[in-house]
Amino acid sequence: MNRPLRTPQELVDAGLANAARQPELEAVAARYAIAVTPAMAALIDPADPDDPIARQFVPDPAELRIQPGELADPIGDLSHSPVEGIVHRYPDRVLLKPVHVCPVYCRFCFRREMVGPDGLGTMTPEALDAALGYISGHPEIWEVILTGGDPLVLSARRLGEIMRRLGEIAHVKVVRLHSRVPVVEPERIDGDLVAALKASGKAAYLALHANHPREFTAAAGAAIARLVDAGIVMLSQSVLLRGVNDDPEILAELMRCFVEHRIKPYYLHHPDLAPGTSHFRLSIEEGQALVAGLRGRISGLCQPTYILDIPGGHGKAPIGPNAIVPRGDGCFTVTDFRGETHAYEG
Ligand code: SF4
Repeated sequence: MNRPLRTPQELVDAGLANAARQPELEAVAARYAIAVTPAMAALIDPADPDDPIARQFVPDPAELRIQPGELADPIGDLSHSPVEGIVHRYPDRVLLKPVHVCPVYCRFCFRREMVGPDGLGTMTPEALDAALGYISGHPEIWEVILTGGDPLVLSARRLGEIMRRLGEIAHVKVVRLHSRVPVVEPERIDGDLVAALKASGKAAYLALHANHPREFTAAAGAAIARLVDAGIVMLSQSVLLRGVNDDPEILAELMRCFVEHRIKPYYLHHPDLAPGTSHFRLSIEEGQALVAGLRGRISGLCQPTYILDIPGGHGKAPIGPNAIVPRGDGCFTVTDFRGETHAYEG
């Protein structure tokens, strides 16, 4: 198999979905895009009904259950979009979304109503001109974050052109990309794509989205090494997901995997209120307990920031367990990595 699986029939034929559930999966497919790359399909154990890779990419009839409070645009992109393809939520940075296609479609995706073949599509040259014009016209924009969709599905030529044009904007100092490609389609990370990522001449950061240590295959490791060796600084992004990484050992191993691959753990996202994703969501208390467990278990280098995107587009807020709380008498109670408390007269 050398191409992604894109339909319930293909998943059934590959032994990755139950034929008896195909009608329900067709109903999911009518609503949300499906793609499982060969690299991810090869990682799935078809004999394991709880396989954490399958859970991320193989559709589930549970996606048809829309809960009250779930939102088509859970992090409020559209209300902060001054021109097509730009989200300007914070003063000094913008998202630039040139494409709404991904190599895989994550079943918990926070932009699942926008991505896929029937999603918001790829920017036209005119829309890209307008978006770059917006960035040029706002000198407070210090950082541009290419996201989507996954910007690394673009050809090296197209990506290089965008990066070169960002390089011409003097006030933009940093270009960051958010991608899943180095793990889900590592063969895309070739010399041309690496050169394209460096074409802006600015500091280039790549935030890799990965959620389970098994995603770090040898091919993924080689792709990551090509990026890091080329001077691209890598950060992590993961989503805390029930049935995938809601286990202290798995979470610790995931964070160690990032660091061993020279990727600094950055964000651990609380799952967003995307439609049909309640089967992935943990409570905030469960998430905080898992994150507290990381403190004692693994190196400070491996600690991510546990983060909530406040619904409605109000931005990100750190929601990790509070290690220090005021006592009300001018002193504080501080909790160490063993869970023991101490007084601090600060
Ligand atoms: S790669 Fe990102 S944008 Fe694409 S489906 Fe997964 S979470 Fe959504």
